[in-house]
Amino acid sequence: MEVDAQFVRDVVGFGGKTLRKCYQCATCSVICPQSPEENPFPRKEMIWAQWGLKEKLIGDADLWLCHQCNDCSEYCPRGAKPGEVLGAVRAKVIQELAFPSFFAKILLRPYGLVVYLAIPVILTLIYMALVNPQVPEGEIVIGNFIPQLHVELAGFAVGGWALLVAAIGAYRFWNAVNSDVSKIYEYRLGENAELEVVRASPRFIECLFWSVIDVLKHSRFAECGTSRYRFFAHFMIFWGFIILGIATLGDIVYIYGFGVEELALPLSDPVKILGNLGAILLIFGSGWVIVARFANEKVGYGTYFDWIFLSTIFAVGLTGVGVEALRYAGSTAAYYMYLVHLVLVFSLVAYAPYSKFAHWVYRTLAYTWAKSVGREPQK
Ligand code: SF4
Ligand code: SF4
Repeated sequence: MEVDAQFVRDVVGFGGKTLRKCYQCATCSVICPQSPEENPFPRKEMIWAQWGLKEKLIGDADLWLCHQCNDCSEYCPRGAKPGEVLGAVRAKVIQELAFPSFFAKILLRPYGLVVYLAIPVILTLIYMALVNPQVPEGEIVIGNFIPQLHVELAGFAVGGWALLVAAIGAYRFWNAVNSDVSKIYEYRLGENAELEVVRASPRFIECLFWSVIDVLKHSRFAECGTSRYRFFAHFMIFWGFIILGIATLGDIVYIYGFGVEELALPLSDPVKILGNLGAILLIFGSGWVIVARFANEKVGYGTYFDWIFLSTIFAVGLTGVGVEALRYAGSTAAYYMYLVHLVLVFSLVAYAPYSKFAHWVYRTLAYTWAKSVGREPQK
């Protein structure tokens, strides 16, 4: 087992600076509504993080069963904020699992904000220089400024990249979770009172299916108490994305199924209603978390990692609605707002495997692992 001092420094740098206050009383593990009775968390993660046991934390599915509700932080007698520390460890683990890792290292630092914005801005400027789109006169028609086909091709390229990197991360994570180094719950008492090794069962598909249902319903998140608002806000953001995804599929059906060339749909169109509902959920969900983060000092204000993700979601929702409002108002500012919106959407999608977005993949796999070895929350 190797101690990695840099890992500890990075966790502290990602917002886990209260880590060293922990004196292992285990109050947090008793309080945590997500923790199983056997080998509970987050006490063990706190000491692993203090010692810099990187490999153990990378392969620790429990890390992703935590929803950062901060019930534990509320009761920690040392103010070690284990909920926040685990959030910082997850940021570090995302960095370790991402491909290429040097890119993740740049993006996850505050100075990486320059790169975060510079890449989509430079790509947009290159596009503008090559295609030279002109702001059209008269009625506001976004497709006359930047053709729908160009947006779709860019979407496929960026989305494909994000999926590829996410798949590599998922593969690395699953291997790490199933490696020998990751197990602290490696043995259990078998039927004949003999110790047997706990392994993920072959019921992967079945466990994955029920994990996805849990994620859709947020049933485990609903157990958390202290930051109850996070359950509702997270639910809104999550379903905001799902609904926007459905609306995008509706757009594709309109274009390729019905030959609609310009998607200036009326407000009463079902696809438009879904699109607006998704955007409103994103804005209110992310706005709620942003405001609430300032209101509870005890559980922590969050980290750069949280803030860049939340801010991007909020800005994507706001600019999306802004484009629509300006279009209805007949203002050519809609075209410029659209460019800003595209830059933000690029950042959200292309950097998803390096950002907090990645928790969707890792948490779903951690649920799957937990189900497959019968690791359920304590009663
Ligand atoms: S994080 Fe706090 S509650 Fe948990 S073991 Fe450490 S000191 Fe105790
Ligand atoms: S933040 Fe919530 S889910 Fe995470 S360890 Fe603390 S109590 Fe458990």
